[in-house]
Amino acid sequence: MRGMSAPVALSMPVVPRVRRSPEEVAAAAPVEGDKKVLLASPRGYCAGVDRAVIAVEKALDHYGAPVYVRKEIVHNKHVVQTLEADGAVFVEEVDEVPEGSLLVFSAHGVSPAVVSSAADRGLQTIDATCPLVTKVHREAVRFAKQGRQILLIGHVGHEEVEGTYGEAPDRTIIVNGPEDVPSLEVEDPDNLVWLSQTTLSVDETLEIVTALRERFPNLQDPPSDDICYATSNRQGAIKEIAPQTDLVIVVGSPNSSNSVRLKEVAAEYGAARAERVDNANEVDESWFEGVRTVGVTSGASVPEVLVRDVMALLAEYGYADVEEVVTAEEDILFSLPKELRARLTADGDATRNLGGRGARPAR
Ligand code: SF4
Repeated sequence: MRGMSAPVALSMPVVPRVRRSPEEVAAAAPVEGDKKVLLASPRGYCAGVDRAVIAVEKALDHYGAPVYVRKEIVHNKHVVQTLEADGAVFVEEVDEVPEGSLLVFSAHGVSPAVVSSAADRGLQTIDATCPLVTKVHREAVRFAKQGRQILLIGHVGHEEVEGTYGEAPDRTIIVNGPEDVPSLEVEDPDNLVWLSQTTLSVDETLEIVTALRERFPNLQDPPSDDICYATSNRQGAIKEIAPQTDLVIVVGSPNSSNSVRLKEVAAEYGAARAERVDNANEVDESWFEGVRTVGVTSGASVPEVLVRDVMALLAEYGYADVEEVVTAEEDILFSLPKELRARLTADGDATRNLGGRGARPAR
């Protein structure tokens, strides 16, 4: 629960984008038997996203607006717009922030160069990097110090990859996909280690690692998986549901890596059709013709309120029978960033150990 500010109405109004009435859409689905929704669990907010969003909310509560945030705090349009309405100012780079201001680093992490430029500008910073991303940064630093070359599997241009790469740019090569493997030029094929972005497809990463190992048999594995628990669990749930569905709807923004991966995984695992929507407004009635079972899930940066809007629309279309398919339980919580905890303690705010889906009302 937020300690100091009044609740804010956060759900963006759902503007029905129906060219036909819900009854007409429902009637147009020529299916035998009951229409049904399989709702994936886990879905939605992970502990790292929850922590980052709460960090900005708490910063606004305790320092007042404006609170600057470098890049989107998490990759979700609704979350960003909601925080903007509360006084957060999102910038692309540090030099856009007035000297002496408060700046929050996003959940995706930043390179040491960004930290330095914020310090040079005299900014007060709160680092909301997910601890599981920080773990990958530490691995990159350690392997670079050992003189190893790092093959970083991830999407070029993604903020998380930029941040991890920036820990050891001279020792790191980004591997975007299996097609990169044949042309990689490395210093020593026997002194390589691979790391990865936390939000990739588990299967695709395995495929890339297999290709890398075929080329570099002595490639070292990281000490533990870099793909995080939340990414794996959400993909695991949709793998279970997809073969039973005619249509999977993934709620998540187009720049959310794990949301885009969920759509791909749903299609790979047998969903007749898979679509990603930012919110209920983007659900297209033409998708439902002949559809009996709809699967629904959401990416790790998606507040549950957006899923509820989609479920409400599905109910209008006649898909009111909902079965939640639970494939894993999650109880991970992360403490808030240490810079913020110190301020909260000084202000007597005891709500310092928040996080995890369901731990607080959806904003
Ligand atoms: S998706 Fe994984 S790595 Fe990213 S913020 Fe969530 S828990 Fe952290």
